[in-house]
Amino acid sequence: MFNIETPYQIDEIIDPLFSSKGIKMSIARLDLIHSIVSGNKLFKLHYFIKEAIEKNISTIITFGGAYSNHLVATAYYTNSIGLDCYGIVRGEEPDNYSHTLLNCLKYNMKLLFIPREKYDDKNKNTLLTDLNLTEFKSMVIPEGGYHPLGAAGASIIMNQLHKNNYSHICTAVGTATTLAGLLQNVTPTEKIIAVPVIKNMNDLESRITYLSQHKQIPTPVVFDHYHVGGYAKKNDALLDFMNNFYKNFSIQTDFIYTGKMLYALYDQIKNNYFKEGSSIACIHTGGIQGNLSLPADSLFF
Ligand SMILES: *Cc1c(COP(=O)(O)O)cnc(C)c1O
Repeated sequence: MFNIETPYQIDEIIDPLFSSKGIKMSIARLDLIHSIVSGNKLFKLHYFIKEAIEKNISTIITFGGAYSNHLVATAYYTNSIGLDCYGIVRGEEPDNYSHTLLNCLKYNMKLLFIPREKYDDKNKNTLLTDLNLTEFKSMVIPEGGYHPLGAAGASIIMNQLHKNNYSHICTAVGTATTLAGLLQNVTPTEKIIAVPVIKNMNDLESRITYLSQHKQIPTPVVFDHYHVGGYAKKNDALLDFMNNFYKNFSIQTDFIYTGKMLYALYDQIKNNYFKEGSSIACIHTGGIQGNLSLPADSLFF
């Protein structure tokens, strides 16, 4: 079972590039928290689950696509503490379930498939009524944990990082919930760097405002243009980078989030964005199971 108090591993990455620039880089290994479940997702879920327990709620309902890391994380977390969980999946039921959906089933999630048009109404209660999900006491967790409670959970990731006096802390950005959490718990000497994995993420500021309930928090540095064409898009340069990174450091990355984050950091380091003396921590959020959707010869790990 996930315990938010358990310290996670932090590794320093020793690369001649970094010493030549006079900087240090560490990687917070949230990927090691669980082999299938993304570490940041468990942090995001923490306060939802806490509230569900406090309110004696027996059933969690959440949403996601067929490859959603959030879905499998919610299945895992709820199952580990004996809560029932429904996963409402975007799109018709496939003939062959994705690895993600198979893992959701393994963790006893009940899957309900709905057509894309209806899924777009997922914030409307009519959908839950249609699916007969209003008969019991339940809690709805938004897709991706995109909610102030999700950000509050993610903010706890920072507690351990404060001890090491990093100048920069970097994360990949999907819904921006993790990012908002980091920003909510930053010291004046820490700068947060965001690497969006989605093309044209123009609403980052309003997302952070919502997730932080209009609290005054610092703004992140955004390394844009590393989405490689958009969400879940890839190119040879990215896959080569991931293969090389694994060859050098034996650390697996995923092509949707953490590969792009590290690729961005390396590029910015080469281009001298970071001053000498900088000490960077990047957050390995996990997501490795997402690589199973790649053609078999794309990565050699
Ligand atoms: C979901 C996810 C993210 C993005 O987190 P957000 O809070 O949605 O921005 C980053 N990395 C991995 C591996 C993820 O699964």
